[in-house]
Amino acid sequence: MSDFSAQLAEVVERFTHDATDVDHADAIPRTHFDQLAALGLFGAFAPIDMGGLEFSLAELCDCVELLASACLASTFVWIQHFRLLAAALDPSAPGIVADLRREIVRGQVRGGVALTGSQPGPARLKATPTREGWSLDGEAPWVSGWGLVDHLVVAARGPEDTVVTLLLDARDQPGLVATRHQLAALNATATVKLTFAAMLVEADRVLGQVLYDPTHELPEGLRVNGSLALGVTRRCLNVIGPSRLDHELREARNALDGANAETMPLARAQACELAVRASNSLAVHQGSSSVLEASIAERTGREAQVLLTFGSRPAIRRELLERFGAGTA
Ligand SMILES: Cc1cc2nc3c(=O)[nH]c(=O)nc-3n(C[C@H](O)[C@H](O)[C@H](O)COP(=O)(O)OP(=O)(O)OC[C@H]3O[C@@H](n4cnc5c(N)ncnc54)[C@H](O)[C@@H]3O)c2cc1C
Repeated sequence: MSDFSAQLAEVVERFTHDATDVDHADAIPRTHFDQLAALGLFGAFAPIDMGGLEFSLAELCDCVELLASACLASTFVWIQHFRLLAAALDPSAPGIVADLRREIVRGQVRGGVALTGSQPGPARLKATPTREGWSLDGEAPWVSGWGLVDHLVVAARGPEDTVVTLLLDARDQPGLVATRHQLAALNATATVKLTFAAMLVEADRVLGQVLYDPTHELPEGLRVNGSLALGVTRRCLNVIGPSRLDHELREARNALDGANAETMPLARAQACELAVRASNSLAVHQGSSSVLEASIAERTGREAQVLLTFGSRPAIRRELLERFGAGTA
C-alpha cells in the first residue's frame, strides 16, 4: 500500500469513528479539514508542481466515494472547495485569486460556493454594475460551510443575460445576512441562506462574466456529486456484508463513469435511488436497533434522503420520481 493510501485509510478510519459526533455537532471539527489538507486533498486536481495531487477525475471520484462512506458531512463541505480551486488554477485567473493559488491548493485557504445565478428560472441573485464594481441583491438559499470556509465563489445574474462569478469573503459584512438552516441530516455542514441587499463588491473580485446558458453544464461536477451517493451505499454494504447490492453498486459507479451530458441525470438518479435502498436495507439488516437515535442506519437513512435533492437538476428529479413510481400519471 502506498504512503498516500495508508494515510487516507487512517483518515477514513478516524472519520468513521467521529461520524456520530459530527452528526450531532453544530459544525464539522476543523481538524477534519486539516487532515484532508495534510493529505493534499484540497489540491486534488492541481498539478504536482503546484503542490497538488494531480488526480484524474476517476481518482478524485474514488476518493470522494471512500471519504463519503466515512463522514458524508466533511466530504460534502470539502468538495465545495473545488470551484475555488478550479478558479485559482485558471491561467487567466484575476490577481485576487491567483495571488492565493498556493494557499488554495494547500487548503490553507478554503472555499465554498453559491451557484444561485446558474439556476434556471427568474434571477434570484442579481449583480448590477456600479462605479466601483458590482452590487448584489437577492438570495442564495443554500450555502454550505459558513464559518468553515474563507471564501465563496458566487454566481449571480448580470446585465444582458449574463452570469457574473465573484469571489466573496465568507463572513458577515454590510449588505449580507446569513441565516442558519437547521438540517435533519448533515447539519454540521453549517448550511445557511444568504440574503444580499445592495452589497458592494469591488471590480477586482470578478472571476468572470459569461452569457447565461442553462443548457451548458460540464458533466464533471455532476459526476463528482454522484460519488457522495455511492459512498453512502458503500457504507451500508460494508455493514451488511456480501449481497446482490454489491453488483448494483458497481453498475451505478460504471453508469456514472461512462455517462455523458445526456445520460448523467439517469446515472445520478440511479446512484441516489440505490443509496436510499441500501440505507433501507441497512435498517432492516440491523433490526430494531436501527430506530435508535445515533444508530448508523438511522443517520445513513437521513443522509441518503438529503442526497435526493442536493445538487439536483430537473432531469435527475424527473428520473427519480419515475423510479419511485411518482412519475406523471
Ligand atoms: C443540504 C444542502 C446543501 C446545499 N449546499 C449548497 C451550496 O453550498 N452551494 C450551492 O450553490 N447550492 C447548495 N445547495 C443547493 C443544491 O445544490 C441545489 O441547487 C438545490 O438542492 C436545488 O434545490 P431544489 O431542488 O429545491 O430546486 P429549486 O431551488 O426549487 O430550483 C432550482 C432549480 O435549479 C436547478 N439547478 C440547481 N443548480 C443548478 C446549476 N448549478 N445549474 C443549472 N441548474 C441548476 C435545480 O435542478 C432546480 O431545478 C444545497 C442543497 C442542500 C439540500
